Amino acid sequence: MLEQLQRYEPDQKVQWLTARDEHVYPLCAAREGKIFSIDEAKKEIEGKFCKPGDPDDRCRCCFISVIELDDISDEELAELGIEIEIE
Ligand SMILES: [Zn+2]
Repeated sequence: MLEQLQRYEPDQKVQWLTARDEHVYPLCAAREGKIFSIDEAKKEIEGKFCKPGDPDDRCRCCFISVIELDDISDEELAELGIEIEIE
């Protein structure tokens, strides 16, 4: 997951996703859906990531990037094909 984080821009945000099944470790499950800055996510991973020292490396968590709508202009949204209706 650390390698995955290194591909993101430092000011991006990411959301932690687990595999959402009965094999997910409690440590991972507590992070499901949480949104972190890249720095926060790195800290989460360091030292206490999933089951420390798991020899099989069975963690299947991943990050998805989170886009802050405030950071994006209407034109950019239109290019992405995203339409947002504000009531
Ligand atoms: Zn995990």
